[in-house]
Amino acid sequence: MTTPITIPAPPKVGMVSLGCPKALVDSERILTKLRAEGYQMSADYAGADVVLVNTCGFLDSAKEESLEAIGEAMAENGRVIVTGCMGNEADVIRARFPDVLAVTGAHQYEDVVQAVHDAAPPARGAFIDLVPEGGIKLTPRHYSYLKISEGCNHRCSFCIIPSLRGDLVSRRIDAVLREAEKLVAAGTRELLVISQDTSAYGVDTRHEPRDWKGRPVRAHMTDLARELGGLRTPEGKAPWVRLHYVYPYPHVDHVIPLMAEGLLTPYLDIPFQHAAPAVLKRMKRPANEAKVLDRIKAWRTIAPDITIRSSFVVGFPGETEADFQYLLDWLDEAQLDRVGGFRFEPVEGAAANDLPDPVPEEVKEERYQRLMEKTAAISAAKLAAKVGRTLPVIIDEVGEPDEEDGSVGATGRSQADAPEIDGHVYLRDVPEGLAPGSFVDVLVEDADEHDLYGVIAPVG
Ligand code: SF4
Repeated sequence: MTTPITIPAPPKVGMVSLGCPKALVDSERILTKLRAEGYQMSADYAGADVVLVNTCGFLDSAKEESLEAIGEAMAENGRVIVTGCMGNEADVIRARFPDVLAVTGAHQYEDVVQAVHDAAPPARGAFIDLVPEGGIKLTPRHYSYLKISEGCNHRCSFCIIPSLRGDLVSRRIDAVLREAEKLVAAGTRELLVISQDTSAYGVDTRHEPRDWKGRPVRAHMTDLARELGGLRTPEGKAPWVRLHYVYPYPHVDHVIPLMAEGLLTPYLDIPFQHAAPAVLKRMKRPANEAKVLDRIKAWRTIAPDITIRSSFVVGFPGETEADFQYLLDWLDEAQLDRVGGFRFEPVEGAAANDLPDPVPEEVKEERYQRLMEKTAAISAAKLAAKVGRTLPVIIDEVGEPDEEDGSVGATGRSQADAPEIDGHVYLRDVPEGLAPGSFVDVLVEDADEHDLYGVIAPVG
């Protein structure tokens, strides 16, 4: 009789992931690697042999949040490894928490994994060294972030990302496409393409082509978008593909026809940050050119349903009332669908901190309120115009039956809504068995400033 193989109990890792979607992708990668080595995940501090805290160091407020998260993990567990953007400030972390086991910076996967090995050695064995298809994901199974590059070649004066993450380094197009293919095969129905500057993809490699399924494909945003648009789910459906962090370089015009063809979700996330030429100049923003409004109009002619999301900073040093009014007038023209607003906040190490004429806090606040009022009114009018239309929607969550009449509601998103940052579509009376990740056609019955309300459209 053969002796049964004893599988050692695998060590358990807890993860606290802070920061932007890019940091979330880093967390997913680290966990994928650790799972591949047999580690298990722990949902709570008590069950973890070691806790990883993936920090954000972009704004001072984010740093404080990161320090608080480290403090909580230290108090609850005590065996803590810190990684992510704030890992570049190891001395600040160690001054406050001298007993953290290790501190590593952003994208130092090998170092993080080595620190986990040191703290809780892996239990090796053929039965536990398996990576689930698509890796370990922190996002729901039906949508995934796809990171195409690291770093950034620009030097916007308010941003310290290039000093934290370095210049642009693009991933190989075949590696990106292989990852996307695996994600779609494993249940992803929506791919969210992210990077610091998606439209610059491949600039560092001169758009070097790689072989993909027997043909050369360039590391270029347009080629990437076309290939991602050609993927199919196991049921033969096209996944939604959203482009985030796109700067309006001229070649962006080439992806708009792909939206009209249905290969790409008609959605562009372009962080304009401001519109007044003097402010953009002081911000040192890329692709800062005067004809953007004309181009937005042209994009809407080609792909009438395109949703344009952006973010804007108010109260940047030297911003005058005339500059701010310019921004409001520009928004009246541009009619952007989705807008996030921020009050300028100096970030330690950013060049903008040395600019003259800081804007007083109360003026920032007043401008912020005016910006939000303006953009909410535009959004409300745009959403009201969708009432009566039938739109494709992806389901995120299905509710419990109502106690009185047994009816079930669900929450989804239209193509105009990226997860976590945009609005929702709230559905009434959905059929039993509807699952997250399903695509349905929804008749829109009502709208408010941010969300839509409707019911699954009758077939035929
Ligand atoms: S484009 Fe500007 S804001 Fe964005 S990461 Fe690069 S330097 Fe920072």
